[in-house]
Amino acid sequence: MAILDHRLTDKEYAQNFSDIHPPFETRDAALVEANRCLFCYDAPCTKSCPTGINVPKFIKQITTDNLKGSAYTIFQQNIMGGGCSKVCPVEKLCEGACVYNLMEEKPIAIAKLQRYPTEKAIAEKWPLFTRKPSTGKKVAVVGAGPAGLSCAHLLSREGIDVTIYEKENKGGGLMTYGIAAYKVTPAFCEDEVGYILSLGGITIKYGMELSRDIQLEQLRKNYDAVYLGFGVGLARQLEIPGEELQGVVDAIGFIYTIRANGYPAVPVGDKVAVIGMGMTAIDAATQARRLGAKEVTLVYRRTQEEMPCTETELEIARLDGCKVLWLAAPKEILGEEGQVRQLVCSVMQLGIADGSGRRYPVDTGETVTLEVDMVIKAAGQMPYEALVNATSLTNDRGRLVITGNTTNLPGVFAGGDCVNGGKEVVDAVQAGKDGGAAILNYVMNNQRH
Ligand code: SF4
Repeated sequence: MAILDHRLTDKEYAQNFSDIHPPFETRDAALVEANRCLFCYDAPCTKSCPTGINVPKFIKQITTDNLKGSAYTIFQQNIMGGGCSKVCPVEKLCEGACVYNLMEEKPIAIAKLQRYPTEKAIAEKWPLFTRKPSTGKKVAVVGAGPAGLSCAHLLSREGIDVTIYEKENKGGGLMTYGIAAYKVTPAFCEDEVGYILSLGGITIKYGMELSRDIQLEQLRKNYDAVYLGFGVGLARQLEIPGEELQGVVDAIGFIYTIRANGYPAVPVGDKVAVIGMGMTAIDAATQARRLGAKEVTLVYRRTQEEMPCTETELEIARLDGCKVLWLAAPKEILGEEGQVRQLVCSVMQLGIADGSGRRYPVDTGETVTLEVDMVIKAAGQMPYEALVNATSLTNDRGRLVITGNTTNLPGVFAGGDCVNGGKEVVDAVQAGKDGGAAILNYVMNNQRH
């Protein structure tokens, strides 16, 4: 067993990482699907979209070849509607709510339809939005992820100058760095951020981390308001013996490397265990397989009924040949010469429901051992507690506490993963919109601290 890079040929990498949801091949194919829509009144698909995209309207606009209008309808509610059409768990959102499900027929392919005009808009740089005349107000945004970008776009449209401080060297946050490359490519993410910035009035300062390169008090002094949308990032530790061995990596770091360094350069084991069953765990497991790992096992301490990923995600993992070990909790990682060799798991059974309503796993005292040379930790992410504690922001173990969209500091607003601990991209976009609307109201009423 060994951890190796360059396991496959360029052709194999390209094949394994090709688009999982290909777009409509022709205009006719898009029109046929769009014409299946019943254009429901009080449409459940719209209600189930966290950003409230008017789904029947944008689909109707496709049927009349009004693609600019359609893209505008989408972007007006969700400026990252292009990326969201590729990464949203639509089976539990819009497509899951489509009335066709009640008739036991295939729901409208809303994501694929949403991708149709938005991809064209981004590729052809359609200037769908214009800025209002300058108000002379300026706002600082921390984090160029979905929350920060969505907040910045809303404010810039209203004539406010926005400066975004981003610690990475690219914008897009989780969309750019934390999602499987076969769902959304790094090139698309770059184009999407470029499209958002093409509105004007938004400057991104890269390599700038809050509490390291820039202080919150400085931002409060220099801007009319501040929006914090810096997300979560640190991988939750397993806190078991052997976690320090060579071959133990965290899922976000693993996914980040794939996107930042390219497929061939990413080392992967022969036999890989992935701890967790959320979307990040699935993305890490499927990509480990696609990088050439011979065997990948997802290890989860509960059962399929309680898993956080969707059935569709699980299906993707299974189709990629990943196995799942249910009711198993990592207990110890054993190694030889500093390198991972085995993962010992406690066999669990379900007890009573915990605070989240899910039945709590209880150790049976038995163990099961997996022969592995790589362990990928995807047991969740933790808030940036040290960063937040370096400020006077009220927080709950690193998660910012807000009222409405406002922190305890006047003029400082926050939203997205740094507040809720980690949700979908589309939730962060909505949080950014809400924060932007609250800031607009604040700065235009001259409530300067
Ligand atoms: Fe169209 Fe389905 Fe939405 Fe109705 S619920 S408007 S059929 S996409």
